[in-house]
Amino acid sequence: MKPTKKGLNTICTHVGEVKDEQFKGAVSPIYMSSSYAYEDVDVKRYPRYFNTPNQEALNKKIASLEHTEAAMIFGSGMAAISHSLMAFLNAGDHIVMQQTLYGGTYNFAVTQFEKYGISYSFTEGWSAEDFESELKENTKVIYIETPSNPLLTITDIEAVAQLAKKRGIISMIDNTFASPVNQNPADFGIDIVLHSATKYMGGHSDICAGAVAATAEHIKKIWESSICFGGSLSDQTVWLLERSLKTMGLRVKAQNENAQNLAEWLSTQEAVQQVYYPGLETHPDHELAKKQMHGYGGMLSFELTDEIDATAFLKALKLIKPSMSLAGVESTMLLPTKTSHSLMTPEDRAKQGIKDNLIRFSVGIEDADDIKEDIVQALAVVGVNTVLAY
Ligand code: PLP
Repeated sequence: MKPTKKGLNTICTHVGEVKDEQFKGAVSPIYMSSSYAYEDVDVKRYPRYFNTPNQEALNKKIASLEHTEAAMIFGSGMAAISHSLMAFLNAGDHIVMQQTLYGGTYNFAVTQFEKYGISYSFTEGWSAEDFESELKENTKVIYIETPSNPLLTITDIEAVAQLAKKRGIISMIDNTFASPVNQNPADFGIDIVLHSATKYMGGHSDICAGAVAATAEHIKKIWESSICFGGSLSDQTVWLLERSLKTMGLRVKAQNENAQNLAEWLSTQEAVQQVYYPGLETHPDHELAKKQMHGYGGMLSFELTDEIDATAFLKALKLIKPSMSLAGVESTMLLPTKTSHSLMTPEDRAKQGIKDNLIRFSVGIEDADDIKEDIVQALAVVGVNTVLAY
């Protein structure tokens, strides 16, 4: 299959539909069958074989969005990540992973690799040199995440992809924070593009799913081990994900715009001591982000000044939901120390630069002024009075 050359919103809306030949309905019918004929058929279909009609159609949409030949969808982002890692790693192999990483992926590495005889190193920083200095004779995978969760560090995708190619190593990226709207790592030579589709692809905080996009050859390898691990997605959720993807381009662009606006505004607030957002010119890797991203994304993080109780501030919010996960159309905030990165030791969090008062902000599609007003009223509750200038 050749990557589709259509525009983003056209791909989101139309590519990978299941045609309703019977009634000519405008949207994909949903095939709930978990039992298909095995005689006189070209393909033996089964949900855990990732090839029901709805699964196959959605794979095409995701491949098209990520400019790759093929894709697969899974029951969660961690299923996509773990199945892909285990497809390319064997006992005796070594993997180099970026130090700033989603807490669940970090936890997978430190709790699972050793028992399979796989060794791993975390980088000191996130430059290509940091990855190169950790390579060993038996390194088989380089794993990056950019922008990273929760500090929005930016890794040079092309430099890492070239390093991996030069050394015959598979490169993998977690592209969740950017979404395919803002970043297409395969265009820079990355082999395996991973997503928690629970996030921007789903976009409504109501499904759990994962995705991987790559060449047909790499997807075949991932498929061969994934049918053993069995992390497939139910057709009902596949259908919901297809429906959600239709508006992904529109949603994410609105979130990009709001996040830029809010990052700039938060940077001017006395109650805020630090804002982390790649769209800010003050971000240390703003130029790199500009080069490799089409938009800077809907995620940002910030720290309030030390005398403000961050937990009390979050509890005082009325519109913004202090809740887990990210990327829904509604704005949410959380403390990574208590949620996404709670499984890390305080020392490892400190090494990544995650402070106890760091707030991760998933910016939604509400009107920016309403979001600001909510922050202002929550700050007033914790004793900081600010006037909102329109
Ligand atoms: N990657 C990133 C960057 C995430 O933020 C998450 C979840 O928060 C995951 C992967 C894991 O995804 P899931 O919760 O769908 O398994």
